[in-house]
Amino acid sequence: MRDFFLAEEDRSFRAEVRAFMSRELAPKVDAIERDQDFGAQLAIIGALGETGYLKLMFPDLYRGALPKPGLTHAVIVSEEAAFLNYAFETTVATALSCAYPIHRFAQEALRERYLMPILEGQSLGSICMTEPTVGSDSAGMETRIRFDEGTSEWVVSGLKRYVSNASKADVYIVWGVTDPYVPPQKGLTAVLIPAGVKGMSFPRLYDFMGRRGSIVGEVAMDEVRVPEENLLGEVNCGFNIMLCAFNFERVILGGSGLGVARAAFEIASQHAQARVSFGQKLGQKQLIWDMIAQMSWKIDAAELLTHRAAKMYDSGIDGKDLMREASQAKLVATETAVFCADRTVQILGGDGVTRQYGKAEQLYRDARTLPIVGGTSEMCKYLIAARELPSIRLNL
Ligand SMILES: Cc1cc2nc3c(=O)[nH]c(=O)nc-3n(C[C@H](O)[C@H](O)[C@H](O)COP(=O)(O)OP(=O)(O)OC[C@H]3O[C@@H](n4cnc5c(N)ncnc54)[C@H](O)[C@@H]3O)c2cc1C
Repeated sequence: MRDFFLAEEDRSFRAEVRAFMSRELAPKVDAIERDQDFGAQLAIIGALGETGYLKLMFPDLYRGALPKPGLTHAVIVSEEAAFLNYAFETTVATALSCAYPIHRFAQEALRERYLMPILEGQSLGSICMTEPTVGSDSAGMETRIRFDEGTSEWVVSGLKRYVSNASKADVYIVWGVTDPYVPPQKGLTAVLIPAGVKGMSFPRLYDFMGRRGSIVGEVAMDEVRVPEENLLGEVNCGFNIMLCAFNFERVILGGSGLGVARAAFEIASQHAQARVSFGQKLGQKQLIWDMIAQMSWKIDAAELLTHRAAKMYDSGIDGKDLMREASQAKLVATETAVFCADRTVQILGGDGVTRQYGKAEQLYRDARTLPIVGGTSEMCKYLIAARELPSIRLNL
């Protein structure tokens, strides 16, 4: 049975979201992929905001009919969006990943000002961790954040790279070092920087093989000043905020991987049942149904792990207690997306690598970023193993 962990209300929610995506997103996927039309994405995000779906993970904010909104529903939104267009899904998922620390760690005034516009689809958010010298080793970042006692402001200097929604976002959550004389786990701080402040610039936007239409770039900060209340949580507690943000992002990435994997699988299974080769349907060949069977169980495994992690989060489990499950969901779902996209291209033969014959080649390009973003597969394996081997210290 698919959707094993989902309740009846989750399933009817999925039907609602699927209808929304086929009405609003499906007609625009070509403009997003081919013309990199960001305006089209913003229009859909605005419509999505009106439905209330973006408030789903924040039960205290959601005024809709659903009794139990949570990360499960956010995963469903991601899965249904990624099924049609992964680039669009990343724009939304990044905004949600920015909304999460604001909701959980910002002071009330900051939440009022910056959270609601994101959840109403009127504003975009961005999270800035990665730097030229550190990606996986995010605790080793070099961006500096200091407090100016004279003006009561946080002053931020540094360069972040590979930042999704860079230059398009209205709000940036930036991590930096506040105390360089302690281990990074005790010396990082996160602050909120609104777009348009003096000293912030976007020196470079990247051109990726996949996710065409999503915007990813560098964010440079030269003595950027923000008020004292723009601090998230406590000073020097940014590492814990990062761990929670990663859990949240990784479970959502489970939904992204599932959406891409399902889209590929649908193309492969249709082709295997339609195409005739050597007098038989392709799907009747053992080498082909082996690939179909592998895709099928991998997708189910990814779905079970992703929905389990989302349900755990919804029941109040987070931080270190969710790290293993969030990492498993992200690892399996994103590797499944790559596997399914690759085998789909193979099953389609020439049609799989041709832009004129459907979406297989796009899915192949799109899927490849999934095991890299939000913590690579190797980092996910490390986190899983570290939880499974508590009595020894794993070398990174
Ligand atoms: C499209 C895209 C969007 C992104 N969006 C954002 C964003 O919005 N915000 C943000 O902050 N970042 C973002 N990133 C950055 C992303 O999180 C990093 O690329 C990722 O964490 C890997 O870091 P890196 O690229 O520096 O690779 P590295 O950390 O240099 O790793 C390179 C390779 O070495 C492996 N490796 C590293 N250390 C070890 C080890 N100890 N043991 C074994 N293997 C290891 C890694 O798994 C990887 O395979 C984005 C990246 C991309 C491509």
